[in-house]
Amino acid sequence: MGIPCSVEELKPPSEGSLATWSNGALNVPNNPVIAYIEGDGIGPEVVRSARMVLDAAVEKAYGGSRRIVWWELAAGSKAQEVCGDLLPKATLEAIKMVRLALKGPLTTPVGSGYRSLNVSIRQALDLYANIRPVKFYGQPAPHKYADKVNFVIFRENTEDVYAGIEWPWDSPEAAKIRSFLERELGVKVREDAGIGLKPISKFATQRLMRRAVEWAIRNGNKRITLMHKGNIMKYTEGAFMQWGYEVAINEYREYIITEQELWEKYNGEIPEGKILVNDRIADNMLQQIITRPWDYEIIVAPNLNGDYISDAANALVGGIGMAAGMNMGDGIAVAEPVHGTAPKYAGKDVINPTAEILSGALLIGNFMGWREASSLIEEAIRKAIADKKVTYDLARHMPGVEPLKTSEYTKELIEYIKEM
Ligand code: NAD
Repeated sequence: MGIPCSVEELKPPSEGSLATWSNGALNVPNNPVIAYIEGDGIGPEVVRSARMVLDAAVEKAYGGSRRIVWWELAAGSKAQEVCGDLLPKATLEAIKMVRLALKGPLTTPVGSGYRSLNVSIRQALDLYANIRPVKFYGQPAPHKYADKVNFVIFRENTEDVYAGIEWPWDSPEAAKIRSFLERELGVKVREDAGIGLKPISKFATQRLMRRAVEWAIRNGNKRITLMHKGNIMKYTEGAFMQWGYEVAINEYREYIITEQELWEKYNGEIPEGKILVNDRIADNMLQQIITRPWDYEIIVAPNLNGDYISDAANALVGGIGMAAGMNMGDGIAVAEPVHGTAPKYAGKDVINPTAEILSGALLIGNFMGWREASSLIEEAIRKAIADKKVTYDLARHMPGVEPLKTSEYTKELIEYIKEM
Protein backbone atom coordinates (compact mmCIF):
# COMPACT_ATOMS: atom_id res chain seq x y z
CA MET A 1 0.00 0.00 0.00
CA GLY A 2 1.41 3.38 -0.98
CA ILE A 3 1.61 6.60 0.97
CA PRO A 4 -1.78 8.34 0.86
CA CYS A 5 -1.73 11.70 -0.91
CA SER A 6 -5.43 12.49 -1.02
CA VAL A 7 -8.07 12.38 1.67
CA GLU A 8 -10.23 10.10 -0.52
CA GLU A 9 -7.47 7.46 -0.56
CA LEU A 10 -7.18 7.21 3.23
CA LYS A 11 -7.30 3.62 4.32
CA PRO A 12 -5.36 2.50 7.37
CA PRO A 13 -3.78 -0.98 7.13
CA SER A 14 -6.53 -3.56 7.58
CA GLU A 15 -4.58 -5.75 10.04
CA GLY A 16 -4.67 -2.93 12.61
CA SER A 17 -7.44 -1.33 14.68
CA LEU A 18 -7.82 2.32 15.57
CA ALA A 19 -7.41 3.83 19.01
CA THR A 20 -10.55 5.63 20.11
CA TRP A 21 -11.25 8.52 22.44
CA SER A 22 -14.35 8.79 24.60
CA ASN A 23 -15.20 10.61 27.83
CA GLY A 24 -11.67 11.90 28.15
CA ALA A 25 -10.08 8.45 27.90
CA LEU A 26 -8.00 6.87 25.17
CA ASN A 27 -8.87 3.28 24.34
CA VAL A 28 -6.00 1.45 22.72
CA PRO A 29 -6.58 -1.87 20.97
CA ASN A 30 -3.96 -4.63 21.08
CA ASN A 31 -3.09 -4.04 17.43
CA PRO A 32 -3.18 -0.24 17.13
CA VAL A 33 -2.33 1.50 13.90
CA ILE A 34 0.46 3.99 14.55
CA ALA A 35 1.22 6.43 11.76
CA TYR A 36 4.82 7.34 11.04
CA ILE A 37 6.47 10.10 9.07
CA GLU A 38 10.11 9.55 8.22
CA GLY A 39 10.90 13.23 7.84
CA ASP A 40 13.93 14.87 6.25
CA GLY A 41 17.69 14.58 6.70
CA ILE A 42 18.50 11.97 9.33
CA GLY A 43 14.76 11.36 9.86
CA PRO A 44 14.47 8.11 7.86
CA GLU A 45 17.42 6.56 9.75
CA VAL A 46 16.19 7.43 13.22
CA VAL A 47 12.57 6.56 12.52
CA ARG A 48 13.59 3.15 11.09
CA SER A 49 15.65 2.50 14.20
CA ALA A 50 12.83 3.61 16.53
CA ARG A 51 10.25 1.39 14.82
CA MET A 52 12.55 -1.62 15.11
CA VAL A 53 13.24 -1.02 18.80
CA LEU A 54 9.59 -0.34 19.61
CA ASP A 55 8.51 -3.53 17.83
CA ALA A 56 11.11 -5.57 19.72
CA ALA A 57 10.04 -4.13 23.07
CA VAL A 58 6.34 -4.73 22.43
CA GLU A 59 7.09 -8.30 21.34
CA LYS A 60 9.20 -8.92 24.43
CA ALA A 61 6.74 -7.30 26.85
CA TYR A 62 3.54 -8.88 25.53
CA GLY A 63 4.75 -12.00 23.71
CA GLY A 64 2.69 -11.45 20.60
CA SER A 65 -0.57 -10.50 22.33
CA ARG A 66 0.07 -6.87 21.39
CA ARG A 67 1.53 -5.54 18.18
CA ILE A 68 1.98 -2.17 16.48
CA VAL A 69 0.66 -1.90 12.92
CA TRP A 70 2.66 0.84 11.20
CA TRP A 71 1.18 3.16 8.55
CA GLU A 72 3.48 5.38 6.57
CA LEU A 73 2.44 8.97 5.88
CA ALA A 74 4.45 11.71 4.25
CA ALA A 75 5.48 15.26 5.08
CA GLY A 76 8.46 17.35 3.98
CA SER A 77 10.64 16.45 1.03
CA LYS A 78 9.24 12.92 0.64
CA ALA A 79 5.71 14.34 0.51
CA GLN A 80 6.82 16.89 -2.07
CA GLU A 81 8.28 14.07 -4.14
CA VAL A 82 5.41 11.60 -3.78
CA CYS A 83 2.39 13.88 -3.46
CA GLY A 84 3.63 17.22 -4.87
CA ASP A 85 2.81 18.90 -1.56
CA LEU A 86 5.03 19.44 1.50
CA LEU A 87 2.21 18.75 3.92
CA PRO A 88 -0.69 16.88 2.28
CA LYS A 89 -4.09 17.27 3.90
CA ALA A 90 -4.27 13.46 3.76
CA THR A 91 -1.37 13.24 6.23
CA LEU A 92 -3.14 15.46 8.76
CA GLU A 93 -6.47 13.68 8.30
CA ALA A 94 -4.80 10.28 8.67
CA ILE A 95 -3.16 11.30 11.95
CA LYS A 96 -6.55 12.54 13.20
CA MET A 97 -8.02 9.19 12.24
CA VAL A 98 -5.44 6.98 14.00
CA ARG A 99 -4.62 9.39 16.90
CA LEU A 100 -1.09 7.99 17.35
CA ALA A 101 1.93 9.05 15.34
CA LEU A 102 5.70 8.93 15.37
CA LYS A 103 7.48 11.58 13.37
CA GLY A 104 11.01 12.32 12.26
CA PRO A 105 12.37 15.88 12.02
CA LEU A 106 11.41 18.14 9.10
CA THR A 107 13.41 20.91 7.47
CA THR A 108 12.37 24.50 8.10
CA PRO A 109 13.93 27.33 6.12
CA VAL A 110 15.23 30.14 8.36
CA GLY A 111 14.12 33.76 7.94
CA SER A 112 12.12 33.22 4.74
CA GLY A 113 10.44 30.48 2.69
CA TYR A 114 7.63 28.23 3.89
CA ARG A 115 6.44 28.15 7.48
CA SER A 116 7.65 25.40 9.78
CA LEU A 117 5.84 22.19 8.89
CA ASN A 118 6.31 21.08 12.47
CA VAL A 119 4.45 24.12 13.73
CA SER A 120 1.77 23.64 11.05
CA ILE A 121 1.22 20.03 12.13
CA ARG A 122 0.98 20.97 15.80
CA GLN A 123 -1.50 23.74 15.04
CA ALA A 124 -3.60 21.80 12.52
CA LEU A 125 -4.07 18.91 14.96
CA ASP A 126 -4.32 21.17 18.01
CA LEU A 127 -1.44 19.37 19.71
CA TYR A 128 -1.34 21.89 22.47
CA ALA A 129 1.09 20.32 24.92
CA ASN A 130 4.66 19.61 23.95
CA ILE A 131 6.11 17.23 26.49
CA ARG A 132 9.84 16.89 26.81
CA PRO A 133 11.30 14.64 29.48
CA VAL A 134 14.93 15.30 30.34
CA LYS A 135 16.51 12.34 32.00
CA PHE A 136 19.90 10.89 32.73
CA TYR A 137 20.67 7.43 31.35
CA GLY A 138 24.32 7.34 32.34
CA GLN A 139 25.52 9.13 29.22
CA PRO A 140 28.63 11.33 29.37
CA ALA A 141 27.29 14.71 30.45
CA PRO A 142 28.96 18.05 31.04
CA HIS A 143 27.18 18.77 34.29
CA LYS A 144 28.33 17.87 37.77
CA TYR A 145 24.79 17.05 38.88
CA ALA A 146 23.65 15.35 35.66
CA ASP A 147 22.50 12.30 37.62
CA LYS A 148 20.12 14.55 39.59
CA VAL A 149 18.38 15.82 36.46
CA ASN A 150 14.91 14.38 35.93
CA PHE A 151 12.54 16.98 34.50
CA VAL A 152 9.49 16.85 32.32
CA ILE A 153 8.93 20.08 30.45
CA PHE A 154 5.36 20.94 29.44
CA ARG A 155 5.64 23.53 26.73
CA GLU A 156 2.57 25.31 25.37
CA ASN A 157 2.45 24.56 21.68
CA THR A 158 -0.08 26.77 19.94
CA GLU A 159 0.36 30.37 21.08
CA ASP A 160 2.91 32.95 22.12
CA VAL A 161 5.24 34.45 19.53
CA TYR A 162 5.12 31.08 17.76
CA ALA A 163 1.50 31.62 16.69
CA GLY A 164 2.89 33.00 13.44
CA ILE A 165 1.08 36.35 13.68
CA GLU A 166 3.87 38.47 12.30
CA TRP A 167 4.64 40.79 9.42
CA PRO A 168 7.87 42.06 7.85
CA TRP A 169 8.77 45.68 8.63
CA ASP A 170 8.06 46.86 5.08
CA SER A 171 4.67 45.12 4.64
CA PRO A 172 1.37 47.03 4.39
CA GLU A 173 0.12 45.01 7.38
CA ALA A 174 2.96 46.17 9.63
CA ALA A 175 2.37 49.76 8.47
CA LYS A 176 -1.34 49.43 9.29
CA ILE A 177 -0.64 48.12 12.76
CA ARG A 178 1.95 50.79 13.49
CA SER A 179 -0.47 53.47 12.42
CA PHE A 180 -3.36 51.91 14.38
CA LEU A 181 -1.18 51.80 17.48
CA GLU A 182 -0.21 55.42 17.14
CA ARG A 183 -3.64 56.71 16.21
CA GLU A 184 -5.82 54.66 18.58
CA LEU A 185 -3.56 53.87 21.48
CA GLY A 186 -0.91 56.56 21.38
CA VAL A 187 1.89 54.02 21.08
CA LYS A 188 4.75 54.91 18.78
CA VAL A 189 6.61 52.05 17.07
CA ARG A 190 9.62 52.77 14.83
CA GLU A 191 8.84 52.80 11.12
CA ASP A 192 11.38 50.15 10.32
CA ALA A 193 10.10 47.69 12.94
CA GLY A 194 8.75 44.29 11.97
CA ILE A 195 5.73 43.31 14.03
CA GLY A 196 4.94 40.06 15.80
CA LEU A 197 2.12 39.40 18.25
CA LYS A 198 2.34 37.38 21.42
CA PRO A 199 -1.08 35.98 22.30
CA ILE A 200 -1.33 33.95 25.50
CA SER A 201 -4.84 32.89 26.49
CA LYS A 202 -6.44 31.57 29.63
CA PHE A 203 -7.94 28.68 27.63
CA ALA A 204 -4.61 27.44 26.24
CA THR A 205 -2.73 27.99 29.49
CA GLN A 206 -5.27 26.14 31.56
CA ARG A 207 -5.61 23.08 29.36
CA LEU A 208 -1.81 22.77 29.37
CA MET A 209 -1.69 23.09 33.15
CA ARG A 210 -4.36 20.38 33.52
CA ARG A 211 -2.22 17.95 31.50
CA ALA A 212 0.79 18.78 33.68
CA VAL A 213 -1.06 18.30 36.97
CA GLU A 214 -2.61 15.05 35.76
CA TRP A 215 0.82 13.82 34.64
CA ALA A 216 2.21 14.63 38.09
CA ILE A 217 -0.62 12.79 39.83
CA ARG A 218 -0.26 9.74 37.56
CA ASN A 219 3.51 9.57 37.78
CA GLY A 220 3.93 10.46 41.44
CA ASN A 221 5.80 13.74 40.80
CA LYS A 222 6.02 16.11 43.74
CA ARG A 223 6.79 19.45 42.12
CA ILE A 224 5.31 21.57 39.33
CA THR A 225 6.94 24.90 38.46
CA LEU A 226 5.40 27.58 36.25
CA MET A 227 8.17 29.28 34.24
CA HIS A 228 7.34 32.80 33.05
CA LYS A 229 8.66 36.29 32.51
CA GLY A 230 5.61 37.84 34.13
CA ASN A 231 7.53 40.64 35.81
CA ILE A 232 8.08 42.18 32.37
CA MET A 233 5.26 40.77 30.19
CA LYS A 234 2.53 41.05 32.77
CA TYR A 235 -0.56 40.38 30.68
CA THR A 236 0.82 37.44 28.73
CA GLU A 237 3.44 35.63 30.83
CA GLY A 238 2.22 37.05 34.15
CA ALA A 239 -1.29 35.93 33.30
CA PHE A 240 0.11 32.52 32.30
CA MET A 241 1.39 32.14 35.84
CA GLN A 242 -1.87 33.25 37.45
CA TRP A 243 -4.03 31.04 35.26
CA GLY A 244 -1.75 28.10 35.97
CA TYR A 245 -2.11 28.54 39.72
CA GLU A 246 -5.85 28.96 39.28
CA VAL A 247 -6.19 25.52 37.68
CA ALA A 248 -4.01 23.84 40.26
CA ILE A 249 -5.79 25.37 43.21
CA ASN A 250 -9.38 25.43 41.97
CA GLU A 251 -9.45 22.06 40.23
CA TYR A 252 -6.91 19.87 42.04
CA ARG A 253 -6.95 21.33 45.55
CA GLU A 254 -6.66 18.02 47.39
CA TYR A 255 -3.34 17.27 45.69
CA ILE A 256 -1.79 20.72 45.69
CA ILE A 257 0.20 22.80 48.15
CA THR A 258 1.66 26.23 47.43
CA GLU A 259 5.14 27.42 48.33
CA GLN A 260 3.67 29.51 51.15
CA GLU A 261 1.86 26.50 52.58
CA LEU A 262 5.01 24.43 52.25
CA TRP A 263 6.77 26.68 54.75
CA GLU A 264 3.86 27.78 56.90
CA LYS A 265 2.22 24.39 57.34
CA TYR A 266 4.74 21.73 56.42
CA ASN A 267 8.10 23.07 57.52
CA GLY A 268 9.59 22.92 54.04
CA GLU A 269 8.88 19.19 53.48
CA ILE A 270 6.40 18.22 50.78
CA PRO A 271 4.01 15.80 52.51
CA GLU A 272 3.24 12.37 51.01
CA GLY A 273 0.63 12.48 48.27
CA LYS A 274 0.95 16.24 47.72
CA ILE A 275 2.35 18.22 44.83
CA LEU A 276 4.07 21.56 45.35
CA VAL A 277 3.08 24.14 42.73
CA ASN A 278 5.37 27.14 42.52
CA ASP A 279 6.68 29.55 39.89
CA ARG A 280 9.99 30.93 38.76
CA ILE A 281 10.90 33.85 36.53
CA ALA A 282 12.33 32.54 33.26
CA ASP A 283 15.91 33.80 33.60
CA ASN A 284 16.15 32.52 37.15
CA MET A 285 14.63 29.21 36.06
CA LEU A 286 17.37 28.76 33.46
CA GLN A 287 19.89 29.32 36.20
CA GLN A 288 18.15 27.14 38.77
CA ILE A 289 18.04 24.02 36.62
CA ILE A 290 21.83 24.24 36.59
CA THR A 291 22.46 25.12 40.22
CA ARG A 292 19.63 23.14 41.87
CA PRO A 293 18.29 20.56 39.39
CA TRP A 294 16.88 18.40 42.23
CA ASP A 295 14.34 21.12 43.03
CA TYR A 296 12.49 20.71 39.73
CA GLU A 297 10.39 17.93 38.27
CA ILE A 298 7.65 19.28 36.04
CA ILE A 299 8.21 22.65 34.40
CA VAL A 300 5.23 24.30 32.70
CA ALA A 301 6.13 27.05 30.25
CA PRO A 302 4.76 29.18 27.44
CA ASN A 303 5.96 28.28 23.95
CA LEU A 304 9.16 30.33 23.67
CA ASN A 305 10.41 29.77 27.23
CA GLY A 306 9.63 26.08 26.80
CA ASP A 307 11.73 25.91 23.66
CA TYR A 308 14.72 27.55 25.36
CA ILE A 309 14.56 25.57 28.56
CA SER A 310 14.25 22.20 26.89
CA ASP A 311 17.49 22.68 24.96
CA ALA A 312 19.26 24.08 28.02
CA ALA A 313 17.99 21.23 30.19
CA ASN A 314 18.97 18.60 27.65
CA ALA A 315 22.47 20.03 27.47
CA LEU A 316 22.87 19.21 31.19
CA VAL A 317 22.49 15.53 30.43
CA GLY A 318 24.55 15.25 27.29
CA GLY A 319 22.69 16.86 24.48
CA ILE A 320 20.30 16.61 21.67
CA GLY A 321 20.83 13.02 20.53
CA MET A 322 19.01 11.82 23.66
CA ALA A 323 16.22 14.42 23.81
CA ALA A 324 12.73 12.99 23.34
CA GLY A 325 9.43 14.76 22.86
CA MET A 326 5.73 14.27 22.33
CA ASN A 327 3.06 16.68 21.12
CA MET A 328 -0.24 15.94 22.74
CA GLY A 329 -3.81 17.12 22.23
CA ASP A 330 -7.04 15.66 23.52
CA GLY A 331 -6.85 11.99 22.56
CA ILE A 332 -4.14 12.51 19.96
CA ALA A 333 -0.34 12.50 20.12
CA VAL A 334 2.55 12.91 17.71
CA ALA A 335 5.88 11.87 19.19
CA GLU A 336 9.02 13.49 17.76
CA PRO A 337 12.56 14.10 18.94
CA VAL A 338 13.70 17.57 19.96
CA HIS A 339 16.52 17.56 17.41
CA GLY A 340 16.30 18.59 13.79
CA THR A 341 17.32 17.03 10.51
CA ALA A 342 21.12 17.31 11.06
CA PRO A 343 21.61 17.47 7.26
CA LYS A 344 25.37 17.05 7.50
CA TYR A 345 24.93 13.49 8.77
CA ALA A 346 21.96 12.42 6.64
CA GLY A 347 22.31 8.96 5.12
CA LYS A 348 25.64 8.29 6.84
CA ASP A 349 24.36 5.78 9.42
CA VAL A 350 26.20 7.54 12.24
CA ILE A 351 23.77 9.67 14.26
CA ASN A 352 22.18 8.79 17.55
CA PRO A 353 18.63 7.43 17.18
CA THR A 354 17.97 7.44 20.96
CA ALA A 355 15.92 10.67 20.92
CA GLU A 356 13.56 9.23 18.31
CA ILE A 357 13.43 5.88 20.13
CA LEU A 358 12.63 7.55 23.46
CA SER A 359 9.97 9.67 21.74
CA GLY A 360 8.35 6.46 20.56
CA ALA A 361 8.68 5.05 24.08
CA LEU A 362 6.84 8.11 25.42
CA LEU A 363 4.04 7.51 22.94
CA ILE A 364 3.56 3.86 23.76
CA GLY A 365 4.38 4.08 27.48
CA ASN A 366 2.88 7.32 28.60
CA PHE A 367 0.20 8.03 26.06
CA MET A 368 -0.97 4.49 25.25
CA GLY A 369 -0.21 2.99 28.66
CA TRP A 370 2.10 0.21 27.41
CA ARG A 371 4.55 0.91 30.18
CA GLU A 372 6.10 -2.55 30.31
CA ALA A 373 7.37 -2.02 26.76
CA SER A 374 8.62 1.53 27.33
CA SER A 375 10.45 0.46 30.52
CA LEU A 376 12.29 -2.23 28.55
CA ILE A 377 13.45 0.41 26.08
CA GLU A 378 14.71 2.74 28.80
CA GLU A 379 16.49 -0.12 30.50
CA ALA A 380 18.14 -1.22 27.24
CA ILE A 381 19.41 2.33 26.67
CA ARG A 382 20.82 2.44 30.21
CA LYS A 383 22.59 -0.89 29.66
CA ALA A 384 23.99 0.08 26.27
CA ILE A 385 25.48 3.27 27.69
CA ALA A 386 26.90 1.43 30.73
CA ASP A 387 28.53 -1.08 28.33
CA LYS A 388 29.84 1.81 26.19
CA LYS A 389 27.84 0.73 23.16
CA VAL A 390 27.09 4.19 21.85
CA THR A 391 27.01 6.31 18.68
CA TYR A 392 29.65 8.93 17.84
CA ASP A 393 28.04 11.83 19.72
CA LEU A 394 28.48 10.03 23.04
CA ALA A 395 31.61 8.05 22.11
CA ARG A 396 33.59 11.25 21.49
CA HIS A 397 33.24 12.04 25.19
CA MET A 398 34.25 8.52 26.26
CA PRO A 399 38.01 8.07 25.80
CA GLY A 400 38.99 4.91 23.92
CA VAL A 401 35.41 4.03 22.92
CA GLU A 402 34.80 3.15 19.26
CA PRO A 403 31.47 4.59 18.09
CA LEU A 404 28.79 2.27 16.76
CA LYS A 405 26.89 3.05 13.60
CA THR A 406 23.20 3.93 13.99
CA SER A 407 22.23 0.50 12.66
CA GLU A 408 24.70 -1.34 14.94
CA TYR A 409 23.50 0.55 18.00
CA THR A 410 19.90 -0.29 17.07
CA LYS A 411 20.79 -3.99 16.86
CA GLU A 412 22.52 -3.83 20.25
CA LEU A 413 19.42 -2.30 21.86
CA ILE A 414 17.25 -5.02 20.38
CA GLU A 415 19.63 -7.69 21.72
CA TYR A 416 19.46 -6.14 25.22
CA ILE A 417 15.68 -6.13 25.03
CA LYS A 418 15.56 -9.77 23.93
CA GLU A 419 17.84 -10.78 26.80
CA MET A 420 15.76 -9.04 29.49
P1 NAD B 1 19.73 19.93 14.47
O1 NAD B 1 19.06 19.39 15.68
O2 NAD B 1 19.40 19.27 13.19
O3 NAD B 1 21.29 19.89 14.66
C1 NAD B 1 21.94 20.55 15.74
C2 NAD B 1 23.22 19.81 16.10
O4 NAD B 1 22.93 18.60 16.76
C3 NAD B 1 24.05 19.43 14.88
O5 NAD B 1 25.41 19.51 15.20
C4 NAD B 1 23.63 18.02 14.64
O6 NAD B 1 24.57 17.30 13.91
C5 NAD B 1 23.45 17.49 16.05
N1 NAD B 1 22.44 16.42 16.10
C6 NAD B 1 21.12 16.54 15.86
N2 NAD B 1 20.50 15.38 16.01
C7 NAD B 1 21.43 14.49 16.36
C8 NAD B 1 21.42 13.09 16.65
N3 NAD B 1 20.28 12.39 16.59
N4 NAD B 1 22.57 12.48 16.96
C9 NAD B 1 23.71 13.17 17.02
N5 NAD B 1 23.81 14.49 16.76
C10 NAD B 1 22.69 15.14 16.42
O7 NAD B 1 19.38 21.49 14.42
P2 NAD B 1 19.64 22.58 13.29
O8 NAD B 1 20.95 22.32 12.61
O9 NAD B 1 19.38 23.87 13.95
O10 NAD B 1 18.46 22.36 12.24
C11 NAD B 1 18.55 21.59 11.05
C12 NAD B 1 17.16 21.53 10.43
O11 NAD B 1 16.26 20.82 11.27
C13 NAD B 1 16.51 22.90 10.19
O12 NAD B 1 15.85 22.87 8.95
C14 NAD B 1 15.54 23.02 11.33
O13 NAD B 1 14.48 23.88 11.05
C15 NAD B 1 15.07 21.60 11.47
N6 NAD B 1 14.50 21.28 12.79
C16 NAD B 1 13.41 20.49 12.81
C17 NAD B 1 12.85 20.11 14.03
C18 NAD B 1 11.63 19.23 14.01
O14 NAD B 1 11.33 18.63 13.01
N7 NAD B 1 10.88 19.13 15.09
C19 NAD B 1 13.44 20.52 15.23
C20 NAD B 1 14.62 21.29 15.18
C21 NAD B 1 15.14 21.67 13.95
